[in-house]
Amino acid sequence: MLLKDNVPIAQSMYRGRFAPSPTGPLHFGSLVAAVGSYLDAKFNDGKWLVRIEDLDRQREVSGAADDILRTLEALGLEWDDEVVYQTQRLRFYQQALDDLIKQKLIYPCHCSRKEIADSSVVGINGPIYPGTCSQNALPLTQTIHGHALRVRTQSDCIVFADVLRGKYSQNLKQEIGDFVLRRADGIYTYQLAVVVDDALQGITHVVRGADLIDSTPRQIFLQQLLGYATPCYMHLPIVTNNVGEKLSKQTRASAIQFQNALTNLIQAIQFLGQNPPEELKQGNIASFWQWAKKNWRVEKIPHNCNTISGDYMS
Ligand code: GLU
Repeated sequence: MLLKDNVPIAQSMYRGRFAPSPTGPLHFGSLVAAVGSYLDAKFNDGKWLVRIEDLDRQREVSGAADDILRTLEALGLEWDDEVVYQTQRLRFYQQALDDLIKQKLIYPCHCSRKEIADSSVVGINGPIYPGTCSQNALPLTQTIHGHALRVRTQSDCIVFADVLRGKYSQNLKQEIGDFVLRRADGIYTYQLAVVVDDALQGITHVVRGADLIDSTPRQIFLQQLLGYATPCYMHLPIVTNNVGEKLSKQTRASAIQFQNALTNLIQAIQFLGQNPPEELKQGNIASFWQWAKKNWRVEKIPHNCNTISGDYMS
């Protein structure tokens, strides 16, 4: 289902998703995003889809995608429809890119990382590309790699209302710069793929970690260029370790263990500000979900701080 008009979304049409990158096993940080997106979808009688974001083969850990899916299943996080793998959808990303090429919004960039670093100011998301190659014409054969493809940004602010954080505004030209949609090695970037997939999967609600809020204006910008609807966005607080780093494979976050499933689920909803009753600890996964789906309260999720730390390390 491709929603083209920005019409109000009826609750029964709610389609949410969880989109992990298979860079390692599910840890407490990704569990919070999975549980938050799942509960919001189920509370609203919606569907919850799972998409494996496996475009960057260099960062992929072999077996991680299956491992994540097995863990979700064991925790009772049941997805609707078939799991989607981005590596099987390259044609859709190319079609979207072709659409933008037709609109004359794409140019090839030959700058090396070092050249960009030397000639730009660092912004919220790395160096702000100064537009060095913006006058370059596209070569006739698009399949030739060796150059990145960038989209021309505009200087109007992109503004959206996050469910938890309220108004968020970004000037893409000044704060991000023209950004890459296809890398020099031919890999389509996260920003392009996520926008195409959210649209083609008919996603109406994106619930994910607040570390991605800076990416949302880029995604809304691409949705506008491609004529897609903009989903509703909710960015959850992110879990940090005791030295303030986001839990990730790099910061050695420990994998969720099946034998601690119930405890981890209870901790995940507590982290999201929900107040499960004590007796839930004596129950099982089924009784946990029964309670959690009925008692999900978005207004209880902490939203004034970006991160809340906890002791979730191995
Ligand atoms: N694949 C991204 C991650 O694992 C999440 C993307 C998204 O939810 O938009 O961090």
